[in-house]
Order: sequence, then structure tokens, then C-alpha cells
Amino acid sequence: MSDIKIGIDLGGSHVSVGVVDESFHIIEQCEKDFTIEEKKDLMNVAIDFMVETLKTLKDKYSFSKIGIGMAGTIRDGVVISSSNIGIKNFNIKKLLEEKTGVEVNISNDAMCAAIGEYVYSNLKEYEKILFLTLGTGIGGNILLNGKIVDDPEYQELGHTIIKENGIQCKCGKKGCFERYGSILVFKNKIIERLGLSYDISGPDLRKEIKINLEKVKDIIDEYLNNLVLGLTMLINKFNPDIVVIGGGFTRYDYMLLEPLKEKLYKSEKLIYKDVKIQIAKSGNDAGIIGASFIKD
Ligand SMILES: [Zn+2]
Repeated sequence: MSDIKIGIDLGGSHVSVGVVDESFHIIEQCEKDFTIEEKKDLMNVAIDFMVETLKTLKDKYSFSKIGIGMAGTIRDGVVISSSNIGIKNFNIKKLLEEKTGVEVNISNDAMCAAIGEYVYSNLKEYEKILFLTLGTGIGGNILLNGKIVDDPEYQELGHTIIKENGIQCKCGKKGCFERYGSILVFKNKIIERLGLSYDISGPDLRKEIKINLEKVKDIIDEYLNNLVLGLTMLINKFNPDIVVIGGGFTRYDYMLLEPLKEKLYKSEKLIYKDVKIQIAKSGNDAGIIGASFIKD
């Protein structure tokens, strides 16, 4: 049996268990998208899936610990709050250790994704990196010389207010970046416009966008404008050498990245125009890779 690491990405719409080798590549992955019905009892559904999957993987690989990256504020294995998953003060570490018999480490998913992408893409040449995960919500971190800046002001970047008196956010504030810039917001607007099912798969949705491009052009444009607004605020505040975008957005980069860059560099409000913009090379896998070697 080969010695590997296990990383899990647990979000508001899916859970993904990955087997990660020594060179930070995912060699096997078991994923589950939550249905609308399952989302009502998300944590229990996710725990059952993780326990079952780990049992199966134990027959094939040797591992004594796992890492989980999940949205929210996490301290010592306890999820203090996670609005995307809908839990509070939940000791997931203790519960999973009892059920699986392996050591469980838990950390914030955006933090895992930033660290995972850093090692996978070898971003050592950059001193200051702004890593943003555009997924169900928006997670973000600043990496300074490869280390996460452990300062509240440098985290929760998705809850930067980009519109005064804007849309109500789950965090209590109004007009947060994630209410406009998450890939979920983008997808839901398209689903509504085209009258599709909220359970539609990613590949099917992308097909629909291609067929109905004319009908959704204004949604794409508005989404990009909001992204530019949020990115400009963050870049102006932190002056990073590079912005790396991960999360579900990476599945739409073929249509969104180039127009996003074009709009961003043209923005008169952007102060630091030499900033680089890049898609996470590990795609949506950064979270799993990072989670596989974190220590909570
Ligand atoms: Zn918020």
C-alpha cells in the first residue's frame, strides 16, 4: 500500500475527497454534489459520505490522518460558524475521529486553497499573493512569502463591502463582494434567466450558456463589472504582485478570464496596474491539495 495524504474539500454545494501523492497531485477523487433536498441536512449527508468514502479508501491506501478544508471560521477542529453550510459551534473533528479512527485536521477552505495552489503552481517568485476562491461564496487570503497573513483584516475578503446598502449578506452586512462575485451568484442568475433547474450539472449549464449566449450576455457583463469592482478594491488595499483566482470560477475561465482582465486593467479606479491576474493551475483542486497537509 502506498503512503499518501487525504484532503477533503467541503463546501455548500459539494464535498470532495481526494488522495494526494507526494508531488501534490490528486491520484484519486470521490465527489458528491448535494441535491436541493440534501442541502437541508447538509452536514449529516456530508459526514455519511466522508465516513463511507474513507472506509473504502482504507482498503487501498495507508493513512492515519486526513485534512478538511471548509467554509467558515474554524478553531481547534470546531466550526465556530459557517453560514454556507449552516452550522454553528459544531465539533466536526471529534465526531469524525470517533467515526473513522483517524486523526482529523480542519482549516478554513480558502486558506487550504491558497496554500495548496502555492505548492502546486510553485508561486515562490511572488512575495505577495492575493488568493481568491470564487465558489459558493468568496474566500480569500493574502500569502506573504508563502505564509498566510494571520490577521483578521487580511481574511474574510469576500465580505468586503463593494456596494453601499447593497444586497443583504448572510454575515449580517449589506453589499458584500460575495453577494455579487461568487460563481454561485453568476450561475443562479443564468439558471433563472434561462428557466433551468437549480440541480443542473456544471457541464450542462456551460452547454446552455454556449447555446443561449445572446440571452445571457448582459448577465455576464454585469458579473464581470462587479468582479472588477471587488478586485479593484482589494488590489488597491493590499497591492499584491499577483491575484490568483481559484474555486468554481476556474470551470468558466475560458469565457470569463480574458474579458475580466481587459475590464480590470481599463478600470480608472485601479491604482496598481502592474498586478498580474492568473487562474489557479490546480483548478478546483487547490482546496483538496492544501487540506491534505494542513495541521489545525
Ligand atoms: Zn458578508
